[in-house]
Amino acid sequence: MRYDFEEGKVRQFLKRRKAKRAAVQLPSGLRPQLSQIIRVFEEAGVKPVIMAGSCYGACDLADMEAKRLGCDVLVHYGHADMGVPTRLPTLYIEARVEDSPLGAVEQALPELKFRRVGLLTTVQHIGHINEVANFLRSRGIQPVIGKPGQRVKYPGQLLGCDFGCTRSIASRVDGFLYVGTGEFHAIGVALATGKEVVVVNPISGGLKTIASDPKDFLRKRRAMISRAAAGERFGVVVSTKPGQARFRLAAELVRRLRAKGREVYLAAVDEVDPIRFADFRFDALVCAACPRIPIDDCERFEQPILTPFEVTVALGDAPFRPYRLDEVRESDF
Ligand code: SF4
Repeated sequence: MRYDFEEGKVRQFLKRRKAKRAAVQLPSGLRPQLSQIIRVFEEAGVKPVIMAGSCYGACDLADMEAKRLGCDVLVHYGHADMGVPTRLPTLYIEARVEDSPLGAVEQALPELKFRRVGLLTTVQHIGHINEVANFLRSRGIQPVIGKPGQRVKYPGQLLGCDFGCTRSIASRVDGFLYVGTGEFHAIGVALATGKEVVVVNPISGGLKTIASDPKDFLRKRRAMISRAAAGERFGVVVSTKPGQARFRLAAELVRRLRAKGREVYLAAVDEVDPIRFADFRFDALVCAACPRIPIDDCERFEQPILTPFEVTVALGDAPFRPYRLDEVRESDF
């Protein structure tokens, strides 16, 4: 896999900021490329400090920690700027994948039964979205690319906490093509739009179709809600990561649970990890941090962990259907 690490841009940024010590944040997928990434800092005579904590998204800026370490700047790799306020001059290097996904998309063509298809991808492959659109057009399929949602930067870009670009085009397409890895995003698109999603993995070439009504997923979430609804003692969890600190949302969830007679506590943590909650004896957790945690990580927790929407279902304030995944909004902060 070849990435564009935009070395010229990094060099200019370090020079313009007269940086002496630079904090460098890398998501786990880019950490094996460390020596290649760091070269530009060393060549510029700038001391790099690898921030080896988590780097889940542009929501997860290590600006405070970097400042405490005396860094002049922060260079954050692998994600697009989502407008999170930062206390240090920060450069985002998206690390786009240079390899074209067209081969994988071509293999998926027999599965693409749609006449008009919504085209979606992550920032890593966004540089190829027009190439994929032209390819589909050449095969008689009309591609539609949605406007970016609140947290994303580019048309057609998806984030696990923002499906905005799917809703803007849902009524104009028969289904979606998602070029990316994992199932989480595709399930979110199916739930947000009620349309089928064909997933093409541009790295492995794998192919999968997510039904417009992902039944297995919904069955598991219903069971999770029932387990939590029987609980008395709740922990509402908010993260201290700047783009996940949804304090206003958390406070509202505490209010709702308390109004229904539950014992409830607001707990703040950097990393929403099961070990942090082991001694509190919560019967259930509610995640007001990253929306992916209660879905992707639920099996790691001993107690049920709900999304904000699922709490309203557990309390009898909303029906289970239509089910919606959690998304981050400005009003949550
Ligand atoms: S909140 Fe979660 S889904 Fe959204 S950018 Fe951060 S890590 Fe990704």
